[in-house]
Amino acid sequence: MMTSRQRFLAALRRERVDRPALGTVTSLACVEAMDACGAAFPEAHQDPKLMARLASYVSLEAGFDMIFPVYSVVHEAAALGAAIDWGQRDRMPSVKAALWQDPDDIAIPADFEARPAMRVVLDALRALKKRYGRDTAIVGKTFGPWSLGYHLFGVDNILVMTLDDPDRLQKILGRLLEITMRSARAQIEAGADALCLGDHCSRDMCSPEAYRRFLLPLHQRLAKEVPGPLVLHTCGETADRIPLFAETGLAAFHYDTRVPAATAKRLAGGKLALMGGVNNVQSLRSGDTARIEQDVREAVAAGIHVIGPECAIPLDTPLRGLKAIRPALEKALTS
Ligand SMILES: [Zn+2]
Repeated sequence: MMTSRQRFLAALRRERVDRPALGTVTSLACVEAMDACGAAFPEAHQDPKLMARLASYVSLEAGFDMIFPVYSVVHEAAALGAAIDWGQRDRMPSVKAALWQDPDDIAIPADFEARPAMRVVLDALRALKKRYGRDTAIVGKTFGPWSLGYHLFGVDNILVMTLDDPDRLQKILGRLLEITMRSARAQIEAGADALCLGDHCSRDMCSPEAYRRFLLPLHQRLAKEVPGPLVLHTCGETADRIPLFAETGLAAFHYDTRVPAATAKRLAGGKLALMGGVNNVQSLRSGDTARIEQDVREAVAAGIHVIGPECAIPLDTPLRGLKAIRPALEKALTS
């Protein structure tokens, strides 16, 4: 019998497991869970104890093989000095305004990892590792240079630069990579067994050619230099770039169900573990057990390595939706 941690990490290495792992590398927080465990947004983004309590509560309730406390997209940007709207109980935080305009504006403070917004993540990971880390995989999150570009330079500026000034964009992305590296290393040192690499190079924002030119070499460097498994997360329909993701050397890709499970598996070509499979809105948020069972059956049949929500779950998702995934897996495996 494998522990959850062994199963999750073996699944990311595409090694033999006793059953597909259950989990995700995006937020499992929902308002119902916040009410039930007494740790709610926005405080659960800024207090490591509350952050850890909410994360462990949802994973234990759902019977998942991992715990993931980094719900939002703002911690790295906040530690770099960006102004943050920390959101509300039912609304995720966001970066209020672009921090930088020019490649030379990029300045990473020497004490980046010790700044409050990073410290809360690192303290939460440390506490979760200590309490649950023997048996359960602890997962952190770092943003890749493309997403950091959105957060720190603004989405519009980045998109305009891909067309108008690709050299400038390349310079920016190369410098932002250092933030990803430092955040990743600090989280692994704090106890993270694996990390989400959030880099939203989705179809509407980034062509496969742009991915190959700007991001593939940077993702290859991350795969080589970060001392732990990275799971790339990009929302949307990604079929045209999964073969490129398979060239990165990254451990896994967390895919959106707009790509059918079997298609994702075929495109990954045995070079990338796959994670996801359960539709967030039609299946989880509606709490529709029959749809959840159908999603899980498809994922199992396709050989998806880690089964769970496809992206951060909507904050109004009912807990019963999350709790229906594990029985659906047991049913799929015995039928
Ligand atoms: Zn997503």
